[in-house]
This record gives sequence, structure tokens and C-alpha cells, in this order.
Amino acid sequence: MLKDKFGREIHDLRISVTDRCNFSCVYCKSADPANYFPHRDLLSWDEFFRLSRVLAGMGIRKVRVTGGEPLLRAGIVDFIARLRQISGLDDLAITTNGYLLPEKARELAAAGAPRVTVSLDSMDPAKFARITRTPRSFEKVMAGIDAALEAGLRPVKVNIVLVRGFNDDEIVDFARLARRQHIVVRFIEFMPLDADHCWTRERVVTAKEIVAAIHPVFPLEEVPRRTPSETALRYRFADGEGEIGIIAPVSIPFCGQCSRLRLTADGKLRTCLFSLREHDVRHLVRNGATDSDIERFFTRVVNQKEPGHRINEPDFVQPDRTMVYIGG
Ligand code: SAM
Repeated sequence: MLKDKFGREIHDLRISVTDRCNFSCVYCKSADPANYFPHRDLLSWDEFFRLSRVLAGMGIRKVRVTGGEPLLRAGIVDFIARLRQISGLDDLAITTNGYLLPEKARELAAAGAPRVTVSLDSMDPAKFARITRTPRSFEKVMAGIDAALEAGLRPVKVNIVLVRGFNDDEIVDFARLARRQHIVVRFIEFMPLDADHCWTRERVVTAKEIVAAIHPVFPLEEVPRRTPSETALRYRFADGEGEIGIIAPVSIPFCGQCSRLRLTADGKLRTCLFSLREHDVRHLVRNGATDSDIERFFTRVVNQKEPGHRINEPDFVQPDRTMVYIGG
């Protein structure tokens, strides 16, 4: 079992399999192809697979595949099927913008039915198309959610990053979506990982405010956490019609329970979303390292995991990489 020096067991891996995306969100610099990594800098599927296999042997139990937009990279479905074969990996999930789910949901289900999380920051089609700079993106994403449910990928989670003055007027609309069968809506506090560096504390809509907005309309009851490292605070609707989650890294940090490692598309290992230092594993895998060499590298890196993020400290420094490069 991988353990850091603070005694936290590391059993979750997030892999950003590409920096490319089919949306051109207005706040995201990766939308400009001039900023894409050259293909040779991206880890190959075999390299991702090898690192996942070695990590599973060291106690990683869950892999979340993300990006960029993971469904855009050719070979993603085979990769999911290969991850399914790794002994010890018992939880496989994918975070996607959902646009390609109408085409891919069935194949994903056949490849081993990963849990699917779809990001959706507005329930207003015109607003959503403006943000993504992609016509009919809202309709495609909603069709993607339906396709995932039809293919049997359940529950489907929908992630919303709330930004004050932008989509906080839609909290109850999203709660209404959560009352659709087999959809779990999760509100995420806005974090200082944006390309434009426009994050301010005032823009963060806190967990407390989210509950206060929903509760008078649809009364909520708190649900106990399933595991200490679960990131979301969970609430069920008192009338039994589904549940919501709130991920509150800013107002209620959960670093003490963090069990995660992140691998970027260009082969850098990150021990925290907000790490200022990365550890290059691509160099190792491309220069003849044995599995034991790689294990020793992971052990050394995990031992340097930060005690926590410093968002709430006066000396906080935003990392150079934005969420799209780190893999949310
Ligand atoms: N393309 C996929 C998608 O749209 O879900 C995966 C990549 S995206 C970077 C992963 C998640 O990070 C999304 O849910 C997105 O909303 C979230 N995210 C991006 N920037 C964020 C920020 N500054 N604070 C909080 N979450 C953020």
C-alpha cells in the first residue's frame, strides 16, 4: 500500500489522457491549438497502461480517466477495457464533457461500464453555447447523458462548477435535474486553477450557500460519507427523489483525507491539484526503467505529497497548469 509521510493511504489515480478538447470554453487556454502539446510528448496508451498496472500493484484501487476531453482521443474505449483487466483496480470512472457520449456510451458500457461524470455548467442552452463556443452543445450533452443512462452506465454524475454572478442563479434548476432518476448532481466550488487567473474568494459559492438555496425548495437531509476519503458532502432529498453532492475544497478542505495522485497527459506525476512541483515519469518509462525502478520512483514521490493545499493561506501561489492540463 502506498502511504505518504502523513499516514494517508494513496488509492486513487487520476489520469489526464489528453490535453485536447472539442469545446473551446471561453476561459480555457487549451482551446487554442497553438497551446497543444506535440503528440510525441503525450504518453501512449501502452505507457499509461504500464504505469496504471504498476500503481495497481502498489495499492491503487480507483482510476479516473479525464482530460482535456478523454473521449476525443482515439483508442479510449480499448484503454478502458484494458484497465478493467488489471487485477486490484475495482473502480473505474471517466470525466467527460458528454458531447461524444451519444456515439460512445454503448462501446464504453461494453468495455466495462466505467462510472461516468459529465460536466455541465449551465442549464441555459444559449448561455452554455456561449461558454463552450460550440453550437448546440447543451442539446448534445443532454443527449449524451440520456445515451449513458440508456447504455446502462448508472448512476450518471453531473458536475457543475459554480461561479458567483455567472451560474449561481441556476442552483435550483440543477437540483431539479438531480431529481431525474439515476442522475447525481454534484456542485463544485470554483478553485484557483483557471487560465485567466480571475478566481477570487468572492466568486466562490460555498457549500453552505448551496444548501441554503436548495433546502427551502427541495428539503435536504445529510447522508453520512461512505469512506473518509470521499470528496463530496452528500445530501438526499427528504422526499426520496434522488441526491446531490457538494465538493467544497475551498470552504471545507478535505486534504487530511486525500488519497489521490494525478498523472498528466505528458507524463508528469502530481501529488496535489495545487502542486507547484511535478515529477517526470515519462523520462523513466522511455529510458528503459524496470517496473521496480518505477515503483521506487512512485514511493519517493508519494513521500513528498504536500500536507494540504494552501488556497486559504496568505502565501498561496496558483500553479502554472490549469485544470484542463492537470485533469479534473
Ligand atoms: N473534458 C472533461 C470535462 O469537461 O469534464 C474533463 C476535463 S475538465 C478540466 C474536468 C473538470 O474540471 C470539469 O468538471 C470542470 O468543470 C472542472 N474544472 C475546470 N476548471 C475548474 C476550476 N477552476 N475550479 C473547479 N473545477 C474546475
